[in-house]
Amino acid sequence: MLSVRFWGTRGSIPCPGPSTIVFGGNTSCLEIRADERLIVVDLGTGARLLGEFLVENDSKKGPIDADIFITHTHWDHIIGFPLFSPLFIPTTKLRLWGPVSFGEKTLESILKTQLDYQFWPIRMSELSAKMEFAELRETIIDLGNDLVVKTKYLNHPILCLGYRFEYRGKSVVTAYDHEPFYNLFPTDKTSPSYDEYAAQEGELTAVEENEKMIEFFKDADVLIHDSQYTEKEYNNGKQGWGHATFEYAVGLAQKTHVKKLILFHHDPSHTDAMLEQFEQDYQQKPAKGLLNRAKSLGNTTHITIAREGMTTEA
Ligand SMILES: [Zn+2]
Ligand SMILES: [Zn+2]
Repeated sequence: MLSVRFWGTRGSIPCPGPSTIVFGGNTSCLEIRADERLIVVDLGTGARLLGEFLVENDSKKGPIDADIFITHTHWDHIIGFPLFSPLFIPTTKLRLWGPVSFGEKTLESILKTQLDYQFWPIRMSELSAKMEFAELRETIIDLGNDLVVKTKYLNHPILCLGYRFEYRGKSVVTAYDHEPFYNLFPTDKTSPSYDEYAAQEGELTAVEENEKMIEFFKDADVLIHDSQYTEKEYNNGKQGWGHATFEYAVGLAQKTHVKKLILFHHDPSHTDAMLEQFEQDYQQKPAKGLLNRAKSLGNTTHITIAREGMTTEA
């Protein structure tokens, strides 16, 4: 069985409070289980609660052993690292994976920087868990026992990886922080920085990368996708910030025959009331067009917005 539990669903910054009780205020952290095997995606502030859960439950059955996949090192995806309590248990074994993209800084050094005395009172030397770090590019990793992970570069201001976990015929895909690939070069011939070759290459690259995303999502049982903005918000100056819209995620999930789309990485300004309304809207909207077309092909995508504490199965 391949399952997911959401420990943090929010993007950018934690935002606890009376208007985020239903969908949660903690930032990205997913617990994925391939039967008993533990995978974690990102260590946002949700990792504090996951850590406590693992110490309370998993450690009674044996040492905590996990593969942790970091999508990228923006704060909202790593800030829970110093508070992940299995780090303080000597028998814990963690393999931390993440993209190579940080100049001279390794994934290990960035995570450890958070424990510098300017930022945090606990020293790295006080963490007793056994940790191994591995840096990833676009690749396929065989983790053994039928568990395979495929990676795909996403479109974000820093290199960021999407993960596709495949286990015994089931699949869970993550695609955040991400916005559709687009041509980065000016296409307006009257622009002083217009370059015909660059404009054409930029267009081709965007098309190719968007096609690769389609292949990456194809027939996924569960797709956890960035939906930080509505289309209206995105078109109001948010292009280039590295986040997708509800409309884009829903359209692509339908097109690629995804079974369950879970919208994720909620904007801090999106309250419970707004997200409940969006969920209703986007569950109904595709019925007018996309969903009908998908139904005629014998395919429908179930759409939900991620709530902290929610679980789902592939
Ligand atoms: Zn983020
Ligand atoms: Zn980010």
